[in-house]
Amino acid sequence: MSVDNKITKRKFDVVIVGAGGSGMRASLQLSLAGLNVAVLSKVFPTRSHTVAAQGGIGASLGNMSEDNWHFHFYDTVKGSDWLGDQDAIEFMCREAPKVVYELEHFGMPFDRNADGTIYQRPFGGHTANYGEKAVQRACAAADRTGHALLHTLYQQNVKSHTQFFVEWMAQDLIRDADGDVVGVTAIEMETGDLHILEAKVVLMATGGAGRIYQASTNAFINTGDGLGMAARAGIPLEDMEFWQFHPTGVAGAGVLLTEGCRGEGAILRNADGERFMERYAPHYKDLAPRDFVSRCMDQEIKEGRGCGPNKDYIHLDMTHLGVETIMKRLPSVLEIGHNFANVDITKEPIPVVPTIHYQMGGIPTNIHGQVVAPKDGDPNAVINGLYAVGECSCVSVHGANRLGTNSLLDLVVFGRAAGNHIVAADLKAKANKPLPANAAERTLARMARLENNVGGEYAQTVANDIRSTMQKHAGVFRTQALLDEGVKQIAALRERVGNITLGDKSKVFNTARIEALEVENLIEVAQATIVSAAARKECRGAHVVVDYEEPADSPRNPLGRNDVDWLKHTLWYSATNSLDYKPVKLKPLTTESIPLAVRSF
Ligand SMILES: Cc1cc2nc3c(=O)[nH]c(=O)nc-3n(C[C@H](O)[C@H](O)[C@H](O)COP(=O)(O)OP(=O)(O)OC[C@H]3O[C@@H](n4cnc5c(N)ncnc54)[C@H](O)[C@@H]3O)c2cc1C
Repeated sequence: MSVDNKITKRKFDVVIVGAGGSGMRASLQLSLAGLNVAVLSKVFPTRSHTVAAQGGIGASLGNMSEDNWHFHFYDTVKGSDWLGDQDAIEFMCREAPKVVYELEHFGMPFDRNADGTIYQRPFGGHTANYGEKAVQRACAAADRTGHALLHTLYQQNVKSHTQFFVEWMAQDLIRDADGDVVGVTAIEMETGDLHILEAKVVLMATGGAGRIYQASTNAFINTGDGLGMAARAGIPLEDMEFWQFHPTGVAGAGVLLTEGCRGEGAILRNADGERFMERYAPHYKDLAPRDFVSRCMDQEIKEGRGCGPNKDYIHLDMTHLGVETIMKRLPSVLEIGHNFANVDITKEPIPVVPTIHYQMGGIPTNIHGQVVAPKDGDPNAVINGLYAVGECSCVSVHGANRLGTNSLLDLVVFGRAAGNHIVAADLKAKANKPLPANAAERTLARMARLENNVGGEYAQTVANDIRSTMQKHAGVFRTQALLDEGVKQIAALRERVGNITLGDKSKVFNTARIEALEVENLIEVAQATIVSAAARKECRGAHVVVDYEEPADSPRNPLGRNDVDWLKHTLWYSATNSLDYKPVKLKPLTTESIPLAVRSF
C-alpha cells in the first residue's frame, strides 16, 4: 500500500473502538442521548469475545439465597487480594442489580426460577455472610450468558441507530499538542485504506489480550490492540503482571469449560479419584477463587497425581449431575466435551488444565471510565477526550485476581457509567478540536515500515515465539529467574517485530497485513506483562513467584504477600520500558473499608 494515499476524514461526537459487551453498553447510552456515535469492530459485533462468556453475570439479587451488595463487595475485595480499588468495587457491586434488571427489560433471555425470577447459580469465591457459605449470585442464561447479553445489546443498538463500522481495525490514537485525544486512525479491512476518524471523545473497548499466551481460552482477535494503541500514545498500562489462569480449559484444546460446571456441582479429581480441593480449601472446596484452584491443580500434577498416561491433567467430573441438569444448565459444555475432548460428560470425566483466560490489568481509568495517568503530582490526572471500559481497561475492580461473573458485570456497569458521563459533558454544544498536522504520522510510519521491510520474518513466526515465551516465563507458578530471562527474550522479540516482512502486499482483505499490525500490539502487552511481573517481588493473587512464597502463618508476609512494599498498582510505560507505581484506593465511597487480611478458603 502506498503511504501517500489520500486519507479520508470523518467527524463524530464519539468514536468507540470495540463492539463487545462494554463497547455496546456504552454506545447504547450515547445513541439514546442522540449523540453521533461510530462503533468500530474487527469482526461483526456479535462475534466479539463477549459472545463466548458462559457462566453468568454477578449481582446480589438474592433470588435463591440470602444476599446483598455488601457481601459481594467483601468477596470482590478479598478475591482481588486487596489490590482492587475499593471505591470502584463498591460502585460496581451496588450498581449490579440495577444493570441486570435493565438487561432483563432490554429482553435478555435469562433462565427462570419457578416463581419467574432470574435463575442464579453459585460461582467461585462468591459467598454470603463474609465467607461463611456459598451464595447463588451468578445470573445465567444456561451456559450461554455472554451470547444472550451480546445479542440483546446489539439489537438495542440497532434500534437506537448506532452506526457500526464492521471490519475496521483501529490503529493509533491521535493526540494534539495539549495531550488531548482528538480521534483515531483506522484501516478498512476490505479495501486496505487508511482513514482518520475525528472525535470529541474516543472510548476504548477492545477487550483482552489472552493471545499473548500459547494456550488460551480467548478468541483469536484478542490481541490487545487497545493496550498497544494506548502504550504507543504514551499512556501507561496498569497491573499487567496479573493474568488469570482459568482452572478448567479442555486439556490440549484450550476451550473453556465454565466455572458454572462447578457451580452446578462438578468436582475436580486427581489420578486417585480424590476430590483434592477439600484438602486445600476445606471451606470453599471446588469453588475457591480461580488463582487458588489453578495453583492447587498445578501442585497435584507436580506431585505426580495428574491423570492420563503422562499424568499431566486433572479430571472434571460431572457424571453425578444427571443428564437433565446438564441438558438444561450446561448444554454447550456437553457439546464442547463431544467436539473438543471426545468425551460424553454425562458418562465420564473430562480432562482439564489451567488455561490463560483474563487480564486483570489494562488502561488505567476512574469510575467514570475516564483514562487517567500521573501528571504534576496527581497519580490519577484525567486525559481529556479518552475513556476506556471492559477488559482492556483497569478501573481496578479485579485487582490481583478476578472473581468469575464480575467481568460481564464490569462491562455493563462501567460501559453504562462511561456513557452517562459522556452524555453529561454535553458534547453537542462543543466543536471537535482541530486535528494536529501530523495526525496520521505514527500509523503511516508503521505501515511504511511493513511496506519496505525485506528479508525479515513473517508475523506468525514472531507471534508464535512471543506466545511460547510468555507461556514458559509467566505461567501459573513463576520464578524470579524465569521472569528475568523472559524480560530479555521479550526485548529480543521486540527487535524481531520491527523487522516483520509481508510476503503479500496487496490491499484488499490482506489478513497478513492485519496480523502483522496485531503483532505490534501483542509485543506491547507481552513486554508490559513480563517487565511488571519481574519487578513485583511478592506473591499476590494470580502473581505467584515461588521465590517469595511463605507459609500462611509467616509473621512478616503471610502467603508471600508483602503489603509494606507492594500494596500498590504498577504502571508500565512503553517508550522507556520503565515502571512507576501509584497507591491502591483502600477507601470505598460510602461504606467501611475491608481491612487487610490473609486470604484463606
Ligand atoms: C471463553 C470465555 C468465557 C467467559 N465467561 C465469562 C463469564 O461467564 N462471566 C464473566 O463475567 N466473564 C466471562 N469471561 C470474561 C468476559 O467475557 C470478557 O472479559 C468480556 O466479554 C470482554 O468484553 P469486552 O467488551 O471488554 O471485549 P470483547 O467482547 O472482547 O470485544 C472486543 C471488541 O473490540 C474490537 N476490537 C479489538 N481490537 C480492535 C481494533 N484494533 N479495531 C477495531 N475493533 C477492535 C473487537 O472486534 C470486539 O468487537 C469469559 C471470557 C472468555 C474468553
